[in-house]
Amino acid sequence: MAVQPGQTFPRPPPPPARKPGGAGRLLPSWRTILNVPADEPALAASQLMALSYRAPMLYLTIIVNVLGLTITHAAIAPPLLGLVLPGGIILISLLRLIGWHRRQRPGVHDEAGILHQLHIARLVVVGLGSCTGAWALSLLPYGNAYQQSQVELGIALTLISCIVCLIYLHSAAIMLGIIVGLPFAIVFLRSPHLPVVITAITALVAMITMTLVLLRNASDFNALSRSRNELKRRQQETQRLSDENLRLANLDPLTGLPNRRSFFATLEQDRRQAEQHGQNLAVVLLDLDRFKSVNDIHGHAAGDRLLTQIAVRLKRLVSETVFIARLGGDEFGAVLTDCPHETAIFAFGAAIQQQLAGPCIVGDRLATIGCSIGVAIYPHAGGSAEELFERADYALHHGKQTRRGEVVLFSDEHEIRIRQTAHAEEALRTADLEAEMWIAFQPIVDVPAGRVIAFEALARWHSRELGPVRPDIFIPLAERTQMIGPLTCVLLRKALAAARQWPDGTNLCFNLSGQTLGCIQTMDKIRQLVRESGVPAARIEFEITETALLEDFDLAMEALRALRALGARIALDDFGTGFSSLGYVHRLTLDKIKIDKSFIGDIDVSSTASSIVKTIVALCHNLNLACVVEGVETEAQLRALLALGCRYIQGYFISPPVPEEMVSRLMARIASQAADIKSFAHTG
Ligand code: C2E
Ligand code: CA
Ligand code: CA
Repeated sequence: MAVQPGQTFPRPPPPPARKPGGAGRLLPSWRTILNVPADEPALAASQLMALSYRAPMLYLTIIVNVLGLTITHAAIAPPLLGLVLPGGIILISLLRLIGWHRRQRPGVHDEAGILHQLHIARLVVVGLGSCTGAWALSLLPYGNAYQQSQVELGIALTLISCIVCLIYLHSAAIMLGIIVGLPFAIVFLRSPHLPVVITAITALVAMITMTLVLLRNASDFNALSRSRNELKRRQQETQRLSDENLRLANLDPLTGLPNRRSFFATLEQDRRQAEQHGQNLAVVLLDLDRFKSVNDIHGHAAGDRLLTQIAVRLKRLVSETVFIARLGGDEFGAVLTDCPHETAIFAFGAAIQQQLAGPCIVGDRLATIGCSIGVAIYPHAGGSAEELFERADYALHHGKQTRRGEVVLFSDEHEIRIRQTAHAEEALRTADLEAEMWIAFQPIVDVPAGRVIAFEALARWHSRELGPVRPDIFIPLAERTQMIGPLTCVLLRKALAAARQWPDGTNLCFNLSGQTLGCIQTMDKIRQLVRESGVPAARIEFEITETALLEDFDLAMEALRALRALGARIALDDFGTGFSSLGYVHRLTLDKIKIDKSFIGDIDVSSTASSIVKTIVALCHNLNLACVVEGVETEAQLRALLALGCRYIQGYFISPPVPEEMVSRLMARIASQAADIKSFAHTG
């Protein structure tokens, strides 16, 4: 059940109004006295429970008294009175005694069952009591004075005992008192023998006093039962609310799947079980591809709708051995408890892909949503829940970069890389950025003009501890450790200082990461560095990637607007590898697009690659954007690109990135080869 904003828990129903006969009155009302509490099932249950302990004693008292009178009267009374009737009474009493004894604890009965039992008990007790009383009185003519006194005392004591035992079944006690007590009084008070009359009066007074005391007592019992039942009801209600609370605290309100908290609790519990039984367990993390752009382009409502659709499909995979939760954002997690082989995990991955294969409603159109899957297996990948989660997360993000859309298991190779990264992270934290960072410059050439139009600044790190570290390792590291801001500033200052020496018309291309775009202080510092550098902003191009924009699209747009306001230009890097949304290109007001090198490797042989490049070139032409192709390594590639209408080229074929001190020599070399370079354009 999803909790809607503003929804509150249902209020507990108000406690039932106090019934007449509660603790406030001296005695219960006649209605209460003569009825079983049909409108108070809880009270009826309490009464039945109390009766179940006393009923056997009641029948025992009747049996003992009837037996006593039978012993003294069997020989003198007619057989019907002396043997048959008492035998019947004793038999019925015995059966009832055994019956009550058997169900001493009545257990759980439904309301109707409880009331039925109370009614039957009342009927039997009153009936049997009356019969016993009538039988005892009928024995009077057959005995001497002693035996008559025995009858009188027997009736009185049995009646008093029965009233005591029936304390919680008032109606039966009162009825019995009237039905047996009244004839008893009439018979004995009219006796010509004073001792008999006095004994009768004493017995009657005792009976009445006892009835009143017991009724008062019963009234207290009822009040106590009611308050105890009310307390129990409240406790049950509190428990119900707290269970509901717990359920909601473990539920993701949007999708109705268990949430992150529930995921970790389940993972820990399953891990312990796996440990106890020496079993395997798999933590599977799933991240939707390009979900962020759905949010950015179509809005959060569309994003929520997409997540709900995905959750509905994932729920179909839930079973006794598969637990699935939403961990937040577009990340889902599963715990597989019965997966002895990797094949089971790959089968589960395939089942996920199959569920997601059907198109989803995204904004106002249908789209297929892919996902990346990372898996860590217990105990191989880690011993604790946190470790397993971290490892699965590593496999997921590693897979997202290199094997998008596949199931990636955390491996030993990953383990080694994690250790290396940890070393590099430590080295970067303590690095002297000014001394250890330097920049390599790679030329971008206008082929038909045969000249260098710009150099791309590419960061290089020569760590004192580790030696050279590749930028695709330390840039993401710097981003993760929040060091990218200071690092970018150091690099930009160095790049600008180099660019100041270059001739007019040779621009500087500088890479900015998404985190930098999202940091107001760093962006202020970057603008300050540009203003102070002495390099005209018009000669600077900032390269950003689509993934950089995904961090916070609005903030990134703001940062780019500020850079353009300075006079700098913006290029979209690695075009074709990300979402490649025309919506972005349109909204960004770009100056340039750089076609990613992954399309260039087989451009001279692959028709798909050349159609993609051709489409991007046409797109740039229509939007009036410059288009640079990077990663050009061979003459064949260059010729193929020129044939597709490309003009600006970057790549090893022209030159690899070179240190600053080699830039002027490189420019001189390219200038000297200008005619050859131009000739490609003419012959291509
Ligand atoms: P990028 O911005 O796409 O840079 C181009 C990469 O392609 C560079 O790798 C470059 O050396 C390489 N490259 C150039 N020509 C060729 C070629 O013909 N063939 C092949 N296979 N590769 C070629 P590099 O220098 O290793 O940089 C890797 C990435 O690191 C860059 O990709 C960029 O994303 C990032 N990076 C480098 N410097 C900086 C920086 O100062 N700031 C930021 N934020 N990122 C940087
Ligand atoms: Ca670049
Ligand atoms: Ca690039």
